[in-house]
Amino acid sequence: MKPFNLDNQFIQELPGDPEKSNHPRSVQGAFWSSVLPRKASAPKLIAHAADMAARLDLSPQDVDDDAFVQLFSGNRPLSGMHPYATCYGGHQFGHWAGQLGDGRAIFLGEVVNKAGERWELQLKGAGLTPYSRGGDGLAVLRSSLREFLCSEAMHHLGIPTTRALSLIATGDTVIRDMFYDGNPQPEAGAVVCRVAPSFIRFGHFELFSKRGELPLLEQLLTFTLSRDFPELSSSTPLNEQRRQWFRTVCERTATLMVEWMRVGFVHGVMNTDNLSILGLTIDYGPYGWIDNLDPTWTPNTTDLPGRRYSYGRQPEVARWNLERLADALTPLMDQADLSEGLKCFDQAYFHHMTTMLAGKFGLQSWQESDGALIETGFSLMHEAEVDMTDFFRRLADLPTGGFTLEPLRHAFYDQGLYQHHHSALSHWLSQLSQRVQTGNTASFNANRSQHMNQINPRFILRNYLAQQAIEAAEKGDYQPIHDLQEVMKTPYEENPAHSQWYGLRPDWAKKKAGCSMLSCSS
Ligand code: AMP
Ligand code: MG
Repeated sequence: MKPFNLDNQFIQELPGDPEKSNHPRSVQGAFWSSVLPRKASAPKLIAHAADMAARLDLSPQDVDDDAFVQLFSGNRPLSGMHPYATCYGGHQFGHWAGQLGDGRAIFLGEVVNKAGERWELQLKGAGLTPYSRGGDGLAVLRSSLREFLCSEAMHHLGIPTTRALSLIATGDTVIRDMFYDGNPQPEAGAVVCRVAPSFIRFGHFELFSKRGELPLLEQLLTFTLSRDFPELSSSTPLNEQRRQWFRTVCERTATLMVEWMRVGFVHGVMNTDNLSILGLTIDYGPYGWIDNLDPTWTPNTTDLPGRRYSYGRQPEVARWNLERLADALTPLMDQADLSEGLKCFDQAYFHHMTTMLAGKFGLQSWQESDGALIETGFSLMHEAEVDMTDFFRRLADLPTGGFTLEPLRHAFYDQGLYQHHHSALSHWLSQLSQRVQTGNTASFNANRSQHMNQINPRFILRNYLAQQAIEAAEKGDYQPIHDLQEVMKTPYEENPAHSQWYGLRPDWAKKKAGCSMLSCSS
């Protein structure tokens, strides 16, 4: 494998932890700690993202090379790599949790590719770090597979996300109490190599602010601006740069929320340590995808008591998280600039959300009165337990001027509910039909279905599909992973050859662990 062009700015420019031993501890006055990944006993490459590899200037031969699996399992870092884990804190489920940090993520370094793009490489599940607290630093195959497939699916849906380069089985076992029922079992271990321009989280800023380490907080802000937001660093004076930066973070977070709502993605653990400063989807844990539309649905069993991280609350929680980031930045920025940033979140969210919703329902542009129409539509879909993805694909197929409910019947999980809500839904459809006919231009309507199908995906990584791939992989069959990787590359296309991956959640998956709910145990 040819060497990477490494430019490890994070560890070169920010102070590190002088302590070199690897035991869980409170790390003060430093952003990172040196740590070596642990050795995998029999690493095996299960899957990789060829386009991400190419983006890192790796050829197919490089991927096939034994050095690839040795490097990305953590066994053999390349020369010039000085692996490290970073220090951050966070609010978990609404409460300040103190120091967290990369408890099972180890950075290999920062690669600058031929196109000049900077990519941080990070191994998830490669062993203990000073931030592992009570954990083992490891990850099981099932959760690694979910992270690998979902980050790639999100990327191909066009949603900002960290990427996944590789999924490697370590050959070692990891003990997990999957159902938290006092019955820990050995499971297959794995390591995912995640890739992003920056893995800096809201929680990085929060920790140094909470500790009152203001020079470090300032250093981090300056670093983030210059490395990760170079387009803003030319504006002067400094406070103007920072004002624009916070607005940008707020706007990107708003856009991300609209994107999640568009496709029915539920993150499941939107703690402030799991929000990216770049507005990327980050940390795929007990996430899930909406089957029947239910704003109160959360995939995370730990979240059940309050449903804080349910589908419908994500935008509100994102704003709450931005408020915590604003609190953290208060010592360095004007209150007015921080408040303005939060207002930008509201404005950007409203603007993008209304545009997205109009597109989703086949409206050429948003009109004020559409709010009530769309709200009624969603609440009927919720009550009638309609499959969100299937519903919108079928809605796109209805002929303009001929909106009837019958062609949408297949999107209903319960035919009793279909009958029960038939008249209310038919009435609503006739209103939508009228709106489509009078509000859109004829040329837009001539292509209405194509417009809608670019916004409403046909293929999403439904919970049961990932679970099927997990069950096969645990028996040594990796073909379903490769199939899903392929299917998720063209999520908006009709692709009849992929029909078996399309369709409503089957009955058997409704209450099955992994398909309906997940624990954080991963
Ligand atoms: P999460 O909310 O799942 O992203 O993780 C919260 C914190 O727990 C982070 O600091 C993680 O690094 C840490 N963590 C999660 N799982 C483990 C593990 N198995 N070993 C060590 N740390 C972990
Ligand atoms: Mg996390």
